[in-house]
Amino acid sequence: MVKIKKFVKDKNIGKEKKPVAGALPASAVKSKKAYNSLRGMHDILPREEKYWKTCFHSAENLAEHFQFGRIETPILEEAGLFVRSIGRGTDVVDKEMYIFEDNDGDKVCLRPEATASVVRAFINHGMFNYPQPVKVWYWGQMFRHDRPQAGRYRQFHQVGFENFGDKDPAADAELILIAYNIYKDLGVPVEIHINSIGNLEERGRYRAELLNYYRGRRAYLCDDCKARLSKNPLRLLDCKETQCQPIKEEAPQIIDWLGEESKKHFMRVLEYLDELAIPYILRSSLVRGLDYYTNTVFEVYPITGEGTAQSALGGGGRYDLLVEEMGGRPTPAVGMALGIERSISVWKQYNDTNKIEMPVKRAEVFFAQLGEQARSRTMKIINDMRKSGLKVGFNFFKNSLKSQLELANNHKIPFAVILGQKEVQDGTAIIRDMESGVQEIVDQKKVESVIKKKLNKA
Ligand code: AMP
Repeated sequence: MVKIKKFVKDKNIGKEKKPVAGALPASAVKSKKAYNSLRGMHDILPREEKYWKTCFHSAENLAEHFQFGRIETPILEEAGLFVRSIGRGTDVVDKEMYIFEDNDGDKVCLRPEATASVVRAFINHGMFNYPQPVKVWYWGQMFRHDRPQAGRYRQFHQVGFENFGDKDPAADAELILIAYNIYKDLGVPVEIHINSIGNLEERGRYRAELLNYYRGRRAYLCDDCKARLSKNPLRLLDCKETQCQPIKEEAPQIIDWLGEESKKHFMRVLEYLDELAIPYILRSSLVRGLDYYTNTVFEVYPITGEGTAQSALGGGGRYDLLVEEMGGRPTPAVGMALGIERSISVWKQYNDTNKIEMPVKRAEVFFAQLGEQARSRTMKIINDMRKSGLKVGFNFFKNSLKSQLELANNHKIPFAVILGQKEVQDGTAIIRDMESGVQEIVDQKKVESVIKKKLNKA
């Protein structure tokens, strides 16, 4: 007999509590207002799980294959981390960061991207002492207070891969290969847009030349580009306004400003892509928004058959100076991040969503039960079976045997175990082969071993 403990009354129940500083006013707590998620933020429902899980599994498998270890960094960081690494004059830092003061008065920020955090972690944990290269991957939410529109959210997910300590072009190519493989797994054809923005000096000389060229045409530029002239001239090449296109097309190209070493590095990356048969397009206007890139920069686009898609699925590049810039030892590095929401959305466009299945194995045996006692016995047996590595299906919500067996049938589960009142009494269970309909009665203690034998798992 189970003893039920007496309920001890909390002395404070019913007493009026003093309001706590900073707490919501009572009126707000009592209001029956229905809340919505914040603009640009969304819930991910169970019906979406198969897409998220598949993406995660594909990334995880590739990470394992290419020997990247999983890293997780906090979502909240010191705001200065991103200002310094991404740089002022970029949209992310100037307009899109979720910055606020916490209760200690510290300026903190919801991460807009994770490379800066991973670099911080690399330095904090002295990872330059690890055997090089240090290869890590992450998966998580990012936050940018951008204007929400199709494929652009304020909270979104990225999967990212970072390689520290390897300056060889093979490391750049490896990341591109991983991105390419992820989309191959999903059945989405992609192409890589690629460019080199050289080292700091080469870029500096190019920037001066670009400024010179654009300044002479200032009157014909859109307002954003006029601002970019003083804030971030390289971003002039990102402009999508029609009036700026003819000017952009005639603009000097960075490739002509690259020195021998940068050119050689870039050519080697392209040779790898040729060897791997990864389709790519040389795009001289590709600079990527962030300050920290050096040499190779790339973006991944779905091949639409109607020209280049509007938005990239992901992108990345080399950032050989960032670790040092952030206070670490000089360490070459290369990384990339892919947007999950956009990838899933494109994936759905390219595939029959009905044919996409969960990447996990379906249940191998289904437990059907009839009656209260059978249900509690079933719960015990399926828990033991789960521990022994069997994938077990059940549904305690449905009471009729017919509807439970229908479920097993719909999910193509090969065997069902049936437990009713009688079986509970005499310690037996019925095992049903779902395909032939043949049933046999076995001892409850032997259910697990009989099922394993039938599944060739014994
Ligand atoms: P970025 O480093 O900014 O180029 O971002 C890499 C990828 O993350 C993009 O190609 C998108 O797939 C995804 N991404 C970036 N910003 C957003 C956003 N606001 N909403 C959804 N996905 C985004």
